[in-house]
Amino acid sequence: MSAAGRVCVVGSANLDLVASTPRLPAPGETVLGTDYAEHAGGKGLNQAVAAARAGAATTFVGAVGADDAGRFLLDQLAAAAIHAVVARSERPTGRAVITVDAAGENSIVVVVGANAEVRVAALPAVDVLLTQLEVPLDTVATALELARTSGIRTVLNPAPAAALPTDLLEMIDVLVPNEHELEVIGSPDALIAAGVGAVVTTVGAAGVRVVTHDRQWHVPPFAVRPVDTTGAGDAFCGALAARLAAGDPLDVAVRAAAAAGALATTRRGAVPSMPTASEIAALLAC
Ligand code: ADP
Repeated sequence: MSAAGRVCVVGSANLDLVASTPRLPAPGETVLGTDYAEHAGGKGLNQAVAAARAGAATTFVGAVGADDAGRFLLDQLAAAAIHAVVARSERPTGRAVITVDAAGENSIVVVVGANAEVRVAALPAVDVLLTQLEVPLDTVATALELARTSGIRTVLNPAPAAALPTDLLEMIDVLVPNEHELEVIGSPDALIAAGVGAVVTTVGAAGVRVVTHDRQWHVPPFAVRPVDTTGAGDAFCGALAARLAAGDPLDVAVRAAAAAGALATTRRGAVPSMPTASEIAALLAC
């Protein structure tokens, strides 16, 4: 692995409110919960933490409300040594209200809140821009345009899944969908023909499939004992951006990202499960 690179993440930040209960309530029903936890979330924040842990000097561009949840998320970014360019919105901080039953089945309400107001006027001097679809599409387009004009490499994780306009596809160097998102967006070959530089599809316990203009290959999964797959995709995207920013070629960066994704499944939660550069290096060396 080479020196640290610089990554800018433009994306969402949420407070996740998680209630555990023996079974999910039916409409109109009240059930008693057995546990409750609050933690930082949102794909943007998760991936920024993943990039920082993987060794990148990381900037996060987002928005939170002027509330306790917003202050908590800013503290989390600071604790991960992430440079925060975070607007204070009049809307509440984004929240995910999650109920989980004893079998691990869940129901989730996402309140977008301040994330609807994420805007980007300029990008800092970085090597890679990483973004997702939990902020307005015109913000994503602006960020990609700014990156293009500054020679910054672009990585888009198209989550939640949405069909992407052709003018956006042309600005994406590396697209990172999972299988479900790929079904909505189109085939790798069609995406490459539309101007995407590389399609890196994460397929969970089956590893990663990569398609570029002139090559395609499969990266087998690293053998781990998963306890919670939450955050695996975010760990993958953050580590991929960090390694590309550090100058790794795509195949080397994808292997490191697959190691990061695998490590994230061995711990609970998203932010707490993001692996460090040395943990990733250790798994790669196995
Ligand atoms: P998402 O959470 O977005 O659906 P995936 O489940 O595809 O993402 O996981 C992202 C990556 O993390 C995978 O491509 C793989 O490299 C790694 N990963 C996920 N689950 C496992 C697993 N059970 N064993 C090994 N690696 C895994």
